[in-house]
Amino acid sequence: MSASYAATHAALRRSRGSAVGLPCFRCGKRASGWACTASAADRVPGRNAEGRTVTFSRDLSDYAAACDSCRAATDREHTAVRRAAAHLALSPLPKRSEPRRVTLAAPTSQPPALFDMPEENHAPTYTR
Ligand SMILES: [Zn+2]
Repeated sequence: MSASYAATHAALRRSRGSAVGLPCFRCGKRASGWACTASAADRVPGRNAEGRTVTFSRDLSDYAAACDSCRAATDREHTAVRRAAAHLALSPLPKRSEPRRVTLAAPTSQPPALFDMPEENHAPTYTR
């Protein structure tokens, strides 16, 4: 067994400092610590400071600053949603489709008449 849970967290604090006060990676509120965002497949079992069995990642880049509620939510979700998010993060950006080109008809010098005006109505004619 290589790095333990405690050693990983010590390395995390050494390389990335404390997460407290950083914006939470999910909600943007003040973070209270690091949350492990690794998928279940990337986690290894270990023991936390309280002696409880936990799963964690040894990859320090798997940790994101999170507030208490998002850390709990992240731990609850750590399979499907996390895998989907990782997939999203790793998949290349979708190709932008070419904007549809609209060909406008060349403007005509005169718009079509909206109604016909008989020529004889243009000027009054007087008959005796
Ligand atoms: Zn949060």
